Amino acid sequence: MRAAILREYGEPLDITTVPTPEPESDGVVVDVEACGLCRSDWHAWQGHGEWNDDQVPHGQILGHEPAGTVVAVGDQVERFAEGDSVVVPFSLGDGTCHHCRSGHGNVCADGLALGFEPDAPGAFAEQVAVPAADYNLVHLPAELSPRDAAVLGCRYMTAYHALADRADLAGGDWLAVHGCGGVGLSAVQLGDAMGARVVAVDPGESARDRASELGATETVDPKETNSVEAIQTRTGGAAVSVDALGIAETCRNSVRCLRERGTHVQLGLTTDEERGEVSLPTDWMTRWEISFLGSRGMPPTRYDALFDFITASDITPGALVGREVVLEDVSARLAAMGAYETEGVEVLTSF
Ligand SMILES: [Zn+2]
Ligand SMILES: [Zn+2]
Repeated sequence: MRAAILREYGEPLDITTVPTPEPESDGVVVDVEACGLCRSDWHAWQGHGEWNDDQVPHGQILGHEPAGTVVAVGDQVERFAEGDSVVVPFSLGDGTCHHCRSGHGNVCADGLALGFEPDAPGAFAEQVAVPAADYNLVHLPAELSPRDAAVLGCRYMTAYHALADRADLAGGDWLAVHGCGGVGLSAVQLGDAMGARVVAVDPGESARDRASELGATETVDPKETNSVEAIQTRTGGAAVSVDALGIAETCRNSVRCLRERGTHVQLGLTTDEERGEVSLPTDWMTRWEISFLGSRGMPPTRYDALFDFITASDITPGALVGREVVLEDVSARLAAMGAYETEGVEVLTSF
């Protein structure tokens, strides 16, 4: 099968032919019909993360947001059969530990990050293997196409988990979203559907326009205005704010734009500028009882709630898709992402 492999950090991915995967006895193989391109892929491609023991090694097949069709099934798998339409969460649990059994498989210590480590080759490829499929794999509702579902394996579910499970966003709350790439736009659409009022911050005009279309009531251009002052003035301080980018500026602005007892959720991972460390106004946070939460992916057990929410709210995750991409163009689109030149979610749909 064809696959895109990381050979050197920052160099074009190697588009080559590799053996098709075989399912483990508890796993399946999925024929990939769509796979989102994500800033996490860009981080991996740049060789970021060694400060967090998280650097992706050379030789890795990247790609962690696949949706597609099951084509091979291990003999222990009970919930899936050939032909099933599925979405694959990137944070794969072992399905057996305390965290997995208590509904927190996204922090499984023995889990795998799809597309980021050698034991979990990714989905910038025609097929991808999924371990512990009965635990990890998710049936796709009939109304969602693989293209529209490609965001559900990472950014959309990440935003949902952050807002619904971690921050406990309530109707009427002001939600601030710093950075309107894939996860940021997901947070805008979901936050609006949850009844929050959303203020979206991004230096890109088209990103702000897209945020408005997806439900943001206010937008802020941080090049033109101090985003913290603008949000504090217009909202009285956000109840919940997310850093959907991961640079020091957006992280601190996200904290500073909160009202008293507000909650910041960190979604973006840092670059080699910050190397995983951002200084914060801790005295101010203490004074106003600010909460700072990390959030990563979503436990697979929460997908039913997400699908129910999408249906009940009549929202379309596919509205985030800004471009469809062919395998040969993945490197160029990751480079564009590094230059903040992508729009919405870009999805690999042709291999
Ligand atoms: Zn992702
Ligand atoms: Zn586990």
